[in-house]
Amino acid sequence: MRGNAFEARVKADGGTELMRLLADRLGEGVPVPGPDEVLVPDLAAAGPEGRTARTALALREATEAGAWALLDHPLLALEVAGSPAYLEPDAVVVRPDGRWTVVEIKSFPMIDGSADAAKVGAAARQAAVYVLALERVAELTRGAEVGHRVLLVCPKDFSNLPTASVVDVRKQLSVTRRQLTRLARIEDIADSLPEGTTFDIGRRTGEELAGAVESVSAAYAPECLAACELAFHCRSRARAADAVEALGRSVRGELGALTTVPEVLAAAHGEAGDPADPTVAALRRAAALRAQALAFAGRAEGALTGRLAGKSAGPVDGKADGCH
Ligand code: SF4
Repeated sequence: MRGNAFEARVKADGGTELMRLLADRLGEGVPVPGPDEVLVPDLAAAGPEGRTARTALALREATEAGAWALLDHPLLALEVAGSPAYLEPDAVVVRPDGRWTVVEIKSFPMIDGSADAAKVGAAARQAAVYVLALERVAELTRGAEVGHRVLLVCPKDFSNLPTASVVDVRKQLSVTRRQLTRLARIEDIADSLPEGTTFDIGRRTGEELAGAVESVSAAYAPECLAACELAFHCRSRARAADAVEALGRSVRGELGALTTVPEVLAAAHGEAGDPADPTVAALRRAAALRAQALAFAGRAEGALTGRLAGKSAGPVDGKADGCH
């Protein structure tokens, strides 16, 4: 509710405050438009396809008219793994020079001009996907250019007053582009399933559904526990297969070609693996260090036990019962 109230405040009066922040932060000599100079098109339409088409039309009309426009919650489409995904930025601003800027409004505070780096990073990744989707529309709009610097609007210090900073999302854009090209297409995944596989819960029994889920490969990571309803199922599968994915994505990344826990242990104990492989070498070094540490701890424990045993055999400081 606080976030919604803050967003409404930022966009109030035809986006007057938002336009001031945009002109102030993005600079580039653009004057602040007056409230009656900003178009706020109605983007209502039936269904996601209708709303996406309405957004594209509004962007095109504002760009061709060379006008300021504030698109409040436009809907954009982006092809992900061969299927459309619909995305809804908080706002997109069109400038008279044809530049489109994504605006993200967040409720976390910006204190003394800077906000929590992790939250800003997450907002930048989110905004980069919007920029990517907007570029698809801009390709079909003459004179349009999508800005790679997005405006992040947050509450100032501990107040409810808006402040903003510009976030350059070029790095996040290139990462997202690469990830999208590497995603397996949904058609290809569907083609690899046994004939007649369905996940329709209305037409299948529990065992049939479980079988259908089993027939799809998974890439479990502990992060799934916070995000996916199938997490316990995939975790059991990963554990049953001794897959290193169950230990976390960073561990999985470090282990290279070693994909199961027995393979890793065999490599560490010198029973398998190429010693020239840096991963195998690192595992053997770690195993040697662990063995040394355990041997040292064992010797230390033995010495302590010996001393205690020696003391308890005779009187200590004149006490016959050896009070330790
Ligand atoms: S838990 Fe969900 S996200 Fe993770 S691997 Fe399984 S299906 Fe995929």
